[in-house]
Amino acid sequence: MHAALKTRLDEVRGRIAEACRRSSREQSTVRLIGVTKYVTAEVAASLHLSGLADLGESRPQELWQKAPALPDSVRWHLIGQLQRNKVERTLPLVNLIHSIDSLRLLEAIGTAAKAQNRIMPVLLEVNVSREEAKHGFTVEELPPLGQMLSRLPNVEVQGLMTMAALDNPENARSTFAELRKLRDAMTTQWGRPLPELSMGMTNDFEVAIEEGATMVRIGSALFEGIV
Ligand SMILES: *Cc1c(COP(=O)(O)O)cnc(C)c1O
Repeated sequence: MHAALKTRLDEVRGRIAEACRRSSREQSTVRLIGVTKYVTAEVAASLHLSGLADLGESRPQELWQKAPALPDSVRWHLIGQLQRNKVERTLPLVNLIHSIDSLRLLEAIGTAAKAQNRIMPVLLEVNVSREEAKHGFTVEELPPLGQMLSRLPNVEVQGLMTMAALDNPENARSTFAELRKLRDAMTTQWGRPLPELSMGMTNDFEVAIEEGATMVRIGSALFEGIV
């Protein structure tokens, strides 16, 4: 399993490199986050030992289980919904939360981060594709958030995150392009740097890279059929 996983990791990295080449980007500007929600802590550890530093989980409880079972060298990302009552316990385990979807959550993170004496890096999730079932801020909700951010000194918003509709990668392109334009617009409007764009999963990460993704969140392409 370990060897197969290493091969998969190399393949995914190769596809990332190709997408970077097509879009004249340096491969170092795209971070691969291995999404371990489908696999055990042992398999996640194997992926990490194959040379992948960044791992992501979508459920806080799962992160609580896996993080202590893996080496401290893992950089953990929370990519799924976070309830406010789980903030305090989750913060010490994660390097970045991708999925901030409400002002109340942002405020809860600000309070907990202050109590824990740290500055918490986060991304704001945006429901660009306007699907009802999706979490995230609407495009219209973003501009006024700028004022709030200056009142939350223990939260550092580093950029935006989105998920495209799961039909086909070329349809995802317009969603990703729109997130990039929003990021550019909010950088100016809020007057703060927003370097990160977390977008792209197994089915659409190459398109996401062509549209400017700085983080791709990939699970199935790493694990499907081998674990
Ligand atoms: C599961 C998940 C992923 C990874 O999806 P794959 O299609 O398996 O690569 C990425 N982002 C989020 C938010 C997820 O929940």
